[in-house]
Amino acid sequence: MRKKLVCVSCPVGCELEVEVHGPGAIEVSGNRCPRGEAYAREEVTDPKRVLMSLVKVVGGERPVVAVRTDRPIPKRLFPQVMGLVRRLCLKAPVKLGQVVALAGDGAQLITTQQVREASPPPGAGASKSG
Ligand code: SF4
Repeated sequence: MRKKLVCVSCPVGCELEVEVHGPGAIEVSGNRCPRGEAYAREEVTDPKRVLMSLVKVVGGERPVVAVRTDRPIPKRLFPQVMGLVRRLCLKAPVKLGQVVALAGDGAQLITTQQVREASPPPGAGASKSG
């Protein structure tokens, strides 16, 4: 298998060519430093990405809050983490950067916005007089 990639490990963005001859037999060219080879090997064997999604919120000004993993996690873990995300439900208020759950591979799922408590509807809580 031959694959072309762009290294995203630094702003130079080297164009890499990867040849996979078999398990562990991977040739990388086009990289200007060892980080490019490490990136290419990971990308063809166990690619990682930051997972982003939404989690339900009850009692908030919005019904959901945006979340992401605090670091890239293996893409193979995405179905498992998304299953967890679908089951989660937070209670407002929700803080920015709040840890919501563990996401596998040492990563945490954190919020990327805050959700305040919903304001009570007009008139709610007012006592009746006379
Ligand atoms: S191979 Fe090295 S120099 Fe090239 S983009 Fe990757 S990190 Fe940067």
